[in-house]
Amino acid sequence: MFRKILIANRGEIALRIHRACQEMGIRTVAVHSTADATAMHVRLADESVCIGPPSPRESYLNVAAILAAATITGAEAIHPGYGFLSENARFAEMVEAHGLTFIGPTAEHIRMMGDKIAAKDAMRRLGVPLVPGSPGALASLEEAQEVANAIMYPVLIKAAAGGGGRGMKVARGPEELEEAWRIARAEAKAAFGDDAVYMEKYLDRPRHIEMQIIADNHGNVVHLGERDCSLQRRHQKLVEEAGSPVLTEADRSALGNTVTDALKKLGYRNAGTLEFLWQDGQFAFIEMNTRLQVEHPVTEMVCNIDLVREQIRIAAGEPLGYEQKDVRLQGHAIECRITAEDPLTFAPSPGRVTTYHAPGGLGVRMDSALYAGYNVPPYYDSLVAKLIVYGSSRAEAIARAKRALDEMVVDGINTTITLHQKIMDAPDFVSGDYTIHWLEKFVSQQS
Ligand code: ADP
Repeated sequence: MFRKILIANRGEIALRIHRACQEMGIRTVAVHSTADATAMHVRLADESVCIGPPSPRESYLNVAAILAAATITGAEAIHPGYGFLSENARFAEMVEAHGLTFIGPTAEHIRMMGDKIAAKDAMRRLGVPLVPGSPGALASLEEAQEVANAIMYPVLIKAAAGGGGRGMKVARGPEELEEAWRIARAEAKAAFGDDAVYMEKYLDRPRHIEMQIIADNHGNVVHLGERDCSLQRRHQKLVEEAGSPVLTEADRSALGNTVTDALKKLGYRNAGTLEFLWQDGQFAFIEMNTRLQVEHPVTEMVCNIDLVREQIRIAAGEPLGYEQKDVRLQGHAIECRITAEDPLTFAPSPGRVTTYHAPGGLGVRMDSALYAGYNVPPYYDSLVAKLIVYGSSRAEAIARAKRALDEMVVDGINTTITLHQKIMDAPDFVSGDYTIHWLEKFVSQQS
């Protein structure tokens, strides 16, 4: 087992990884920008190295500085968390070239799934059902028109290199296609430096359901059930639950088998998530994430497995040590992503946290790097806390979420706590009757 791991991230996820390392007896190295010198992950880590100024490009994306920090401190492995360098195949290669272990899949698989067109192609060959769409990248507006006519409007133009909901544009009819094509390509070029786009049928009332898998280096692959992440704003998740309120046990095991078979054939290793849209009882693959996800805790709560610990064990070469039949999903978990934003306008709200009180009690988990006196910097993602609740049933989990949200205090900055309270009270949420479009409408009715 590794003696020392460098955590190439910040915020709640850096802390999350630190906690798993500590429990495994592994020392941690935090890296941080000058803006994060007093951050909780830096305060708790065994060692820390400043890797640059606030701008992510010069710090958390600064490969040379991170590799130097690992070398100087004698770290043996690097955990990339999510975001930043976690899906950068070149980074994974460079980590390995420096004689260190990258805690994640192979660079080849990261690269394949990072190109959504290549990912869909691979999944098609592996027998995974896809959302209908263009067979590959769209070469011209004329081709886009042909595909749209074949699969029928509405259609969605998506960036091949996409992520974070960027580079995605809907065309509801032929008159909207040219503009959607132009804007999606321009956004993709600006955000990812690559204007390759493809087309999918735009589903009008799907749910976003994703499968968590974990695979060792010895050919064992198991799934840890699904997460329902249909509560989204601007294609970004706000609330996630495990399991989905709409899946039957038969749906779950059918999808689980499809996914584990595919990844066995692919020779995938470490943690990964396959994302699907689910409508009219049909699953359709949209993308795969080759990293730990923000919402991984809801899975951990229902299967009682520490995913970060598993990632580290696997990277160290250990076999999983259990099979699919040993994985038991029990109870229900919900995660609320609490951001430093205005709960109505979503305007960012960085600044000093004057009071912080974390909720507690049975079935309540807070993954957060907040503390009283902490200054939320303006340079990074606005996620400041993940409230995760567990209950023996979905109703119990909702009641617990409401109770915990009422207890939570974050003064000095605006947060989305009040929005989460309203969601937990909304009859459609309580009944489980919502699609990926529900939250957007709900939010617009609040102002
Ligand atoms: P990103 O990598 O940018 O997050 P995804 O492909 O994962 O992009 O899609 C993000 C979200 O956008 C999905 O969860 C879903 O809500 C919506 N979406 C994606 N593809 C479609 C589609 N074909 N029809 C309807 N909604 C879609």
